[in-house]
Amino acid sequence: KTDIKPIWCPGCGDYAVLAAIQQALAALQINPKDLAIASGIGCSSRLPIFLQCYGLHTVHGRALPAAQGIKLARPDLTVLAVGGDGDFFSIGAGHLPHAFRRDMNITCIVMDNEIYGLTKGQTSPTTPYGHITKSTPMGNLAQPMRPLGLAISSGASFVARGFSSNPKQLAELIRKGMEHQGFSFIHVLSPCVSYFDTYQIFKDHVYQIPDDHNPQDMVAAMRYALETERMPLGLFYQAEPRPMSVPSEAKPFDTQAHLEHYLA
Ligand code: SF4
Repeated sequence: KTDIKPIWCPGCGDYAVLAAIQQALAALQINPKDLAIASGIGCSSRLPIFLQCYGLHTVHGRALPAAQGIKLARPDLTVLAVGGDGDFFSIGAGHLPHAFRRDMNITCIVMDNEIYGLTKGQTSPTTPYGHITKSTPMGNLAQPMRPLGLAISSGASFVARGFSSNPKQLAELIRKGMEHQGFSFIHVLSPCVSYFDTYQIFKDHVYQIPDDHNPQDMVAAMRYALETERMPLGLFYQAEPRPMSVPSEAKPFDTQAHLEHYLA
């Protein structure tokens, strides 16, 4: 930890996420000099300031380009990208599917409170349909996005969800994500007590993914990821990492074979 105390509102879910990250780092005995954390803008994006490490508090939505640049320049470092739902799923959303499909060895932790907290309560991409916020006084007009489904379908090789009120499991998922050698995406339900207090809603809707779920089964993982009535917690999907590499059998484009493939 640094000497700087978080200035999050008392009760904010992000305190538990910070503690879970600290536990995972301690369990893996990662030296602060071997760790870099990139964030964007938002309440949760303050997180790198509170940990002893290389920290990059970038501009809105740009945690992932910064994290990928760090990893390319210093592959020896453990690299985290952290932030909130507005940051990753709205202004930074263009970076997300490409980070998933590049599958670089980065752990991405999104603290999702389904609202913009720092700017005092506007609709975010995961705010429920119909919810009244300062930016949608007649209720949110759009359906919330489903980030876990996007992650699985775009090529992330480790996809999990934790809850700030279940810190033990969250620390375990973060540790496993950091051990995974590809891109690990950890979606965290982390309520904002000031502008959309979802603690009770989340508590009423979460459940554990059953032990007999095979995380390599992409179709089963997708079924959990697309659930709307309830919120599964745990490891949804894990596959062998498929990091970017120079193809061993690069060949020129074959128009006929391409057509046959799509017409078959
Ligand atoms: Fe946390 Fe919400 Fe306060 Fe921001 S405004 S620190 S998200 S409780």
